[in-house]
Amino acid sequence: MNKLKAFSIVVFFFTSTLLLAQDSEIKTSSAQFIRDIYTEALTKGHAYEDLRFLCKEIGARITGSTEAQMAIEWGQKKMNAYGLETRLHEIQVPHWERGTKEVFYLKTSGGDHIKLRGLALGGSVGTKGTLRGRLIEFESLDSLKAASIEMVKGKIVFVNQAMDAKQIQTFKAYGGCYPLRGNSASVAAEKGAIGSVIRSLGLASDPHPHTGSMYYADGVDKIPAAAICTADANKIHAVFKNNPKQDIELVMEMDCRSFPDATSYNVLGEIKGSKYSDEIITVGGHLDSWDTGEGAHDDGAGIIHCLEAFRILKEMNYEPQHTLRLVFFMNEENGNKGGKTYAKWVKENEEKHFAAIESDRGGFAPRGFTCDGSEEQIEWLRTLAPVFKAYDLHVFEKGYGGVDIGPLKESYPGIPLFGFVPDSQRYFDMHHSPNDVFENVNKRELELGAAAIASFIYILDQKNP
Ligand SMILES: [Zn+2]
Repeated sequence: MNKLKAFSIVVFFFTSTLLLAQDSEIKTSSAQFIRDIYTEALTKGHAYEDLRFLCKEIGARITGSTEAQMAIEWGQKKMNAYGLETRLHEIQVPHWERGTKEVFYLKTSGGDHIKLRGLALGGSVGTKGTLRGRLIEFESLDSLKAASIEMVKGKIVFVNQAMDAKQIQTFKAYGGCYPLRGNSASVAAEKGAIGSVIRSLGLASDPHPHTGSMYYADGVDKIPAAAICTADANKIHAVFKNNPKQDIELVMEMDCRSFPDATSYNVLGEIKGSKYSDEIITVGGHLDSWDTGEGAHDDGAGIIHCLEAFRILKEMNYEPQHTLRLVFFMNEENGNKGGKTYAKWVKENEEKHFAAIESDRGGFAPRGFTCDGSEEQIEWLRTLAPVFKAYDLHVFEKGYGGVDIGPLKESYPGIPLFGFVPDSQRYFDMHHSPNDVFENVNKRELELGAAAIASFIYILDQKNP
């Protein structure tokens, strides 16, 4: 039986149970079990202290760094301490380092120097000393694409495209600007630019530059690429506005560089299923982070949500029917080697995968879950709304699963991928910036997230094929 069909039958059974047996004993005991999960998380939770340790005692953990390795060792030790059967899954990862020099100045023809706050984008080459060039501003990636070679050649390009503040879901605003970070340098280089800077991807006007991945298209010159904080991007725009001759120079220095691929690991921890032990539910987030801040929301919170969910289920002596596998993925931020290698590896091992859940949208107050799956699977998800109403969750709809679990779709086309959805309004004030620190995570919101995920795993596991 194919996975999709199997899942539909499961969905049918589960949905009928839920809809027809409103007062049944199963329903009542399920409701109590979920209530107990929340009580454990909110009164005896470990989530906040575990996140503090990850952020403060380890810190930022970019793939290939010593801190990333420390996080792997911490993760396995923590899973062992919470009673999971653990192992490390070896992977090859890219290794990029920021270096120590990051300097950005605007210089006007009047001789004014304006210091700018910026960060090299992940994957960028360095400037090999000081790079100076006439700066040219574009309001969007599309306007850069439309520019002629004559306009751009020999200059440093500045793409000042702002995230769309009209969007209610900030991830939609981010999605609209995402290609700007990945592709601006390549588009600029194709037209002969010598450097590329972008407006940071964030909604607030703030002093924190936001880094993230960029990629060089095949065959283009690798030119240095950086992001300037939104407050300083506004400043640059004002300088252009007040300067009719537009003869503004950017001076930049960065000594970031790439190293050969390194060996790293995904961290796996399991609770074996009692009834369908060969059917696996993967639950996880990514252990790596960008190298600024502490990776507290992205994705320390997601790692901790999932770890705490497993701890709670263990603490409550829950015996799952399916095998529950917790995965701390490595290298989501700049390559997704952890997610890709995992999906290939489980397929090669002929494992059966029932569903996957990811938390990688921050540690804010929970709103619900999205499903990347079939209509039936999404319909099943919608039936959970009444179950979670008392816990203030209301988003149960079609949507994204997650970057790390995404490749499982290729290995198992029918598999439903569920994404945990917290409130998104403040996420991009911190995302990929020095502002993504432990102090910006709220203890209660983090605990509620862990409880929501533990409850979701429990409900998913109760589906009887
Ligand atoms: Zn993330």
